[in-house]
Amino acid sequence: MAWDFSTEPEFEEQLAWMRAFVRDEVAPVELLWPHWHHRVPPPFLKKVVDPLKQQVKDRGLWACHLGPELGGQGYGQVKLSLMNEILAPYQWGPTLFGVQGPDTGNAEIIAHYGTAEQKVRYLQPLLDGELFSAFSMTEPQAGADPTLFTCRAERDGGDWVITGEKFFTSNADHAAFFIVMAVTDSDVSPYKGMSMFLVPRDTPGITIVRLTRYMGEPDDGMDHPHIRYDGVRVPGDSLLGEEGEAFVIAQTRLSGGRIHHAMRAVGQAQYAFDMMCERALSRRSGSGPIADKQMVQEAIAESYAEIEQFRLFVLRTAWKIDQGHGYTREVRREIAVAKLLSAKVVRNVVERAVHIHGALGTSDETPLARLWQLVPGYGIWDGPTEAHVTTAARQILKDHEPSPGVWPTQWIPARTEAARARYADALAEQAAWAAKRTE
Ligand SMILES: Cc1cc2nc3c(=O)[nH]c(=O)nc-3n(C[C@H](O)[C@H](O)[C@H](O)COP(=O)(O)OP(=O)(O)OC[C@H]3O[C@@H](n4cnc5c(N)ncnc54)[C@H](O)[C@@H]3O)c2cc1C
Repeated sequence: MAWDFSTEPEFEEQLAWMRAFVRDEVAPVELLWPHWHHRVPPPFLKKVVDPLKQQVKDRGLWACHLGPELGGQGYGQVKLSLMNEILAPYQWGPTLFGVQGPDTGNAEIIAHYGTAEQKVRYLQPLLDGELFSAFSMTEPQAGADPTLFTCRAERDGGDWVITGEKFFTSNADHAAFFIVMAVTDSDVSPYKGMSMFLVPRDTPGITIVRLTRYMGEPDDGMDHPHIRYDGVRVPGDSLLGEEGEAFVIAQTRLSGGRIHHAMRAVGQAQYAFDMMCERALSRRSGSGPIADKQMVQEAIAESYAEIEQFRLFVLRTAWKIDQGHGYTREVRREIAVAKLLSAKVVRNVVERAVHIHGALGTSDETPLARLWQLVPGYGIWDGPTEAHVTTAARQILKDHEPSPGVWPTQWIPARTEAARARYADALAEQAAWAAKRTE
């Protein structure tokens, strides 16, 4: 029996240090420079954040998303879940610990599929926190269904030439390089005819058409631009992985990215929940706190239950990855479900937290406004909820069989008949016994 929900004392000590560090050091940076976490800091900010990053590195907590063989600390996904939960309330949290999206997913695939030269040029500076990267997959005319992508890359001598358009390439304006997914063979299935390329941001032919922002974000918030690739020429060694391998690589990246998002979703829901409880105990109505009202109690109990179930599910999925399952079918099913739960639990809990704060909750004077802004995004980024419902249901159904005939296998009349046949002697004795009693 190896079910154990405890955290080993040494790591619990690290988590305690993180909680204090996030509260005392990360939160003030967030308040003053809320939209600077995704760009190389100018000198005045470097002076503030470099010593903080150094403290994280000194504790051995930097870039924990990768295993030691890939240049990271190798803590595994369970520990990363516990860490991400603490970091998630703050945009600066992941950056100061070297685990910010979209860079973690990008680093993971370069680590898995990159050549030695690609790792030196792109992975190492990413892991050192010296630069940022972007993932350029979604297109203006297609997102959830990648088989509809049209951006293409053609061989020209030893080079590749990329032509097409992409949309919502997050942080492209501050990224040093992009990972671009492009069609390299339109004669085969899209699952085998697309490839990934590492493309430096300053390559001629790249135009940022518009710096699209996520809803409600200010002009210095993260950009999600529409990009035009117009005959963008990159050398042959820019190919990431093998030609035609883009789908497999994207699956690795998105699976990792989705479970990391789910870990952060737990932390964001918990942050909103803690605010909700504090407010319920502080705000009064009539002769007592609103925490005495049954409908407020319902909001608290429901939220607690949802977060606890979600956290355990995310941790178990992380544990399965750590057990060496990688991103197998079973884990992909769990990740699809974690993606659904992220959207649902964050929405439910943040909505209740906003509501219980009344007008203040709808204002820009609490962190709830930003958490609420994230709600629609949770249902869309890394694929819309519906696509994950389909994936989850398909995978779940693979473990089930149709009934052999018209009636379900649990149809009670047939099962009763079989039970009667099996216990015919006992039933006959029962009948005789009952007849005797009525004599
Ligand atoms: C904040 C944010 C950051 C992002 N960052 C990046 C990034 O860095 N790089 C990148 O490449 N992309 C990025 N994206 C894009 C994201 O991956 C896509 O938005 C997502 O895949 C959905 O594609 P779409 O927006 O084109 O929606 P569509 O494909 O147009 O889908 C729209 C709607 O149609 C319905 N629908 C679609 N498919 C199905 C289906 N199979 N079954 C049932 N209903 C369906 C759903 O209601 C869905 O919401 C980001 C998105 C957001 C919101």
